Amino acid sequence: MLTVKAAREIVLDHCGSVRTDHLSTEMVPLLASQGRVLAEPVHLDLDQPPFDRSMRDGYAVKSRDLDPAPARLRCVGEIKAGEAPSRILESGEAIQIMTGAPAPEGADAVIMVEHTERLSEDEVAVLRTLPPGANIAPRGSERRRGDLLMSTSTPLGVLEMGGLAAVGKSRVRVFQRPVAAILATGDELVEVDQEPGPGQIRNSNAYSLSAQVVSHGGTPRVLATAGDSLDQLRRQIRLGLQSDVLLVSGGVSAGKYDLVEDVFEELGIQIQFEAVSMRPGKPTVFARRGRQFVFGLPGNPVSTFVAFELFVAPVLQVLQGLPAGALTVVRGRLQEKILEKSGRTALLPASVTLESGDIRIRPVSWKGSADIFSLADANGLVVVPLECRELSAGQEADALLFEPMTGLSDCEF
Ligand code: AMP
Ligand code: MG
Repeated sequence: MLTVKAAREIVLDHCGSVRTDHLSTEMVPLLASQGRVLAEPVHLDLDQPPFDRSMRDGYAVKSRDLDPAPARLRCVGEIKAGEAPSRILESGEAIQIMTGAPAPEGADAVIMVEHTERLSEDEVAVLRTLPPGANIAPRGSERRRGDLLMSTSTPLGVLEMGGLAAVGKSRVRVFQRPVAAILATGDELVEVDQEPGPGQIRNSNAYSLSAQVVSHGGTPRVLATAGDSLDQLRRQIRLGLQSDVLLVSGGVSAGKYDLVEDVFEELGIQIQFEAVSMRPGKPTVFARRGRQFVFGLPGNPVSTFVAFELFVAPVLQVLQGLPAGALTVVRGRLQEKILEKSGRTALLPASVTLESGDIRIRPVSWKGSADIFSLADANGLVVVPLECRELSAGQEADALLFEPMTGLSDCEF
C-alpha cells in the first residue's frame, strides 16, 4: 500500500500540472481581497515618500545655520501635513513644520521642536546642531516608482492591505476561488435538522468538509446527498463534475454498497490511488477527469477530515494560484505514551500547546475514526510513523497543526 508520503507526492505531481496563467481571475474591491491570492504583480505608482518628508514636528532649517549652537533663526512661516511649501528657505531662516509635511526647498534638516525654544512670533532659538539630512526622508528613499511591491501569487492578508492601499489599488485582481462540490453518500444519512430514525445518523461530513474548503480558500457547493444506489451516485457525481474539485464522502470502503469507485470508472474518472497506509483514512481515493480533481474520502468523520488536510488542501491551494503548501508540522514532547498496532502511519487527534517555550503534544481521548467529537478537543494530529509500535511519554514527536497553539503567554517584554 502507498505510504502517506508517496500518496502526497502523487497529488503534488498532479498539482504541478496546474498553470497559474490558465486560472480564472476576477477584480474585487480592495477590502474584499483579504484572504485571496494576487493574480497580478503590483508596482509602486509613485516614489515613496512622494516628496521630501519631515519625520518630526519641528523647524525646517539649513544645517549649517545651526553651528555654533545655540543659533537664533527668523521664523518665516509654517507647513502643515497636506500643504505644499509656499516659499524657499533662505539662510538664517526657520519654517515651522509638522510630521508628514513636505520639507521646503533650501532646507536640508528638521530640528525637533523639543530642541528649540520659541523666543517670539518671529524668532526661534535652536539649541543643538544637526547633520545635513537629519529628520528628512528624501523623496524615493524608501521605494521608487515602478518598484515591485508584490508579485503574482502573493496571499493577501492583514499585512498586505496597507501596502495595496498606499499604491492606490482600490480594486485588485485575484484568482477565482476554486469551487469544490461536496457529495455525501449513504442510505443512513439524514440532514442536520432532522431526528435520525433507527439506523440513521446525521450527515456531519458535508458540514466539516464545507468548513475545510472555506478555510483553504475554496467555495463549497454542497450537493444533495446520494443514497447507496448506482443511479443516485451517477446522477450526483455527474453534477459534481461541473466543479473544479469533487469531494465524495463515503462509499469507498470494501462494503457491498460502497459503489463510488464503480461509478468513477463508469464516468471516465481515472483513479490514481485508492488506498493509503494511514490510520485513519486508509480507503482514500484520488482521481482525475480532465482538469478536474476528484476525491473519494472515507465516510468516517475523522478519516474524512484527515484525508482532506493531507490530500485535498494542496489541490485547493494550487487552484487559487498558490504554490502547493507544505504541511505545518511542529516537533514537540509527547505527554503520554501511544501504542499503535495498525502498522500504518497513524495521525491521531492531539492537543498541541506551547508552555514556557516548549511544545507539548497530548493525544486527546478518541474512540477511533468515527469519533467526530474528539476533533473539537484537538488542534492537531500527532504522527506515529509507519511501523512504529510505540511512542513513549517524554519522547519527541511530530504533530500536524491545524489551529494555532494554545497556551501562548501574554506580553512579557
Ligand atoms: P462508508 O465509507 O460509506 O462505509 O462509511 C463509513 C462510516 O462513516 C459509516 O459508519 C457511515 O455511516 C459514516 N458516514 C458516512 N458518511 C457520513 C457523513 N456524511 N457524515 C457522518 N458520517 C458518515
Ligand atoms: Mg456508506
